[in-house]
Amino acid sequence: MNGLEISPFIAALPKVELHIHIEGTLTPALRWKLAHRNNIPLPYETYSELVDSYKVTYNHRRELNGDNGAPTFLETYFAGCQVLCTEDDFYELAMDYFRKAAEMNVRYVEPFFDIQAHTKRGVAAEAVLDGFLRAQRDGAERCDVRSNWIFCFLRDESVESGLEAYRTARPWATTKDGKGKGLFHAVGLASNEYDRPPLLFEEGFRLAKEDGLHVTMHCDVDQKDAVDHVHEAIFQVCAGQGTERIDHGLNAIDRPDLMQGLKERNIGLTLCPHAYHRRQATETLFPKIRKLWDEGVKICINSDDPTYMHNVWIDGNMMKVYEYCRFSEGDMIQLVRNAVEMSWAEDEVKQEILKELEEFAVSS
Ligand SMILES: [Zn+2]
Repeated sequence: MNGLEISPFIAALPKVELHIHIEGTLTPALRWKLAHRNNIPLPYETYSELVDSYKVTYNHRRELNGDNGAPTFLETYFAGCQVLCTEDDFYELAMDYFRKAAEMNVRYVEPFFDIQAHTKRGVAAEAVLDGFLRAQRDGAERCDVRSNWIFCFLRDESVESGLEAYRTARPWATTKDGKGKGLFHAVGLASNEYDRPPLLFEEGFRLAKEDGLHVTMHCDVDQKDAVDHVHEAIFQVCAGQGTERIDHGLNAIDRPDLMQGLKERNIGLTLCPHAYHRRQATETLFPKIRKLWDEGVKICINSDDPTYMHNVWIDGNMMKVYEYCRFSEGDMIQLVRNAVEMSWAEDEVKQEILKELEEFAVSS
């Protein structure tokens, strides 16, 4: 990971992850195993070719400044999804992640999941949802990593297909009528944002709000119309109430009204520094993150799609800002506090992590 070793302080720091796509944690090893188990042909003859295929830098097509025809991140991510077929596969994917999270001292996580990426291949939504539900319980019991999940509308699919996926998944939500199974407590927007602004999904946000769920959305970095999308997310969506969080949203620093809006509406940004560092120079990127922090915008540090982003996980992302933003140990602890505050965890979970952070601050 660009030559940075994870320091003992960063390794030991208790962590909260609010921006990770569960499908973006699929390791080449599990993908290889599931491909063979499910008889899904892989377009790679050897395991090392499969590993090499994860080295992608372009995010999607179309790219704003053109691309060179190389495979993109999104193509690689959805190619990975092909091997996920049965409830056990989704369970195994999530349990692999929870074990990894526990090793990194992650205490609580709000993973994103896709339904449409799987149902359109003929996989039953129940297999996806039941697999994750079982892992949610076992992850908490066996790995001590608590989780509440986030349903994503795939924004480059039709709005109608997203709404249908939401209606299908709804019995697994933490709905305010208390009848849901408690897997997910929020909705978000994922996949290719090119010409797919947040407001297109207003009906989805409305349904989710009515059910008592939270709303977050990706505003990708340097995407076409990036600042307009951030503006919609802060001021226009959810009938003008705005979103509760923004995933990425780094382009807010390009306009003072957006910085002001984030602060006034207390909308935090779930940043994933390595995802941007793949495409921006150290001296360009980290001063921007530092500026958000210095100006009092609430941010926290996350990993996005670690296996497709050079295997840089939340600890590696935290190490990057610790080093390149020149944050102190106290600042790093505050970044985790921010994540706790930005999360929608149950109060007792929040209190427990805050208390642990307090003890950690004294002992470190
Ligand atoms: Zn993301």
